[in-house]
Amino acid sequence: MFETTIAGSLPKPGWLAETDKLWPQWRAQGEDLSRAKRDATLLWLKEQEDAGLDIVTDGEQARQHFVHGFLEAVEGIDFEHKVKMGIRNNRYDAMVPVVVGPLKLKGRVHQFEARIARAHTKKKLKITMPGPMTIVDTIADRHYGDKVKLAMAFAELLNQEAKALVKDGVDVIQFDEPAFNVYMSDVKRWGIQALERAAKGLKCTTAVHICYGYGIKANLDWKETLGGEWRQYEEIFPALAASSIDQVSLECIHSKVPPQLMKLLKGKDVLVGVIDVASDRVETPQEVARTIGQALKYVPKNRLFPCTNCGMAPMKREIALAKLQALAAGAAIARKKYR
Ligand code: ZN
Repeated sequence: MFETTIAGSLPKPGWLAETDKLWPQWRAQGEDLSRAKRDATLLWLKEQEDAGLDIVTDGEQARQHFVHGFLEAVEGIDFEHKVKMGIRNNRYDAMVPVVVGPLKLKGRVHQFEARIARAHTKKKLKITMPGPMTIVDTIADRHYGDKVKLAMAFAELLNQEAKALVKDGVDVIQFDEPAFNVYMSDVKRWGIQALERAAKGLKCTTAVHICYGYGIKANLDWKETLGGEWRQYEEIFPALAASSIDQVSLECIHSKVPPQLMKLLKGKDVLVGVIDVASDRVETPQEVARTIGQALKYVPKNRLFPCTNCGMAPMKREIALAKLQALAAGAAIARKKYR
């Protein structure tokens, strides 16, 4: 009961990459960089285990950014001539690469970190990848000429890599779809279909993470425009409940999402955000247990997985670590209290 996990990413140590950044530069190159990525992956596995988490991740230590980490392994994309594009419905301007030809995987994408993690933990292992809709919203297109076609092409590649990750011994594959909270009618028209294509035939647990983003300024400003109650989930959860995806990771603590919307995910495991990633204040275990208690009004015990609201990549390392500990300690209290 109440198996704990995190949305996915963890801060990179200062010897691996620049700290406190979403797009950090690596500190080394070539073999030195590979070695540093390996060491950082092991370090966070150990920290997650020692904190007492049940389903651990590679902390996304081997990729620079959650979307581009995948794109770098794809043929048919021009990274040399990036173009400026408003993404997430113009919430941010980003320099994005351009699709210029048929998409194909150059080789494996996350084998390196998945195999290292698998070799060094007996806990359940989760690997995350960007979802097709979020990828399409983070890249320009000069080849496919149609968003849905482009999304399906990416979904196919995600599926290839996901199948290989399952062979590497990964227990949970999670697709990150922050774009699902932005383009709700497209989610119903093709987003979930593309997600299901990415997850097709996977012999492991499948998850989707949908949040309101990291605690960076552009997101905080956007949230100010969303009003007193955030009801985006209300539009998409019924369709997700009807989908083939096993788990939905959502934000809860300090969020303006009405918690009763979790009821719309009947039949799914719900990864409830009980740790706020937009604040450096570390939750107390009691607070975590209380948030779990609130979520229990809407999610059955056996379906509730305490989790973080989002990734912790841009946080200070010490704070992220303290939050992991609070997460596990709070779930332990909740297990006794709500047995
Ligand atoms: Zn997130």
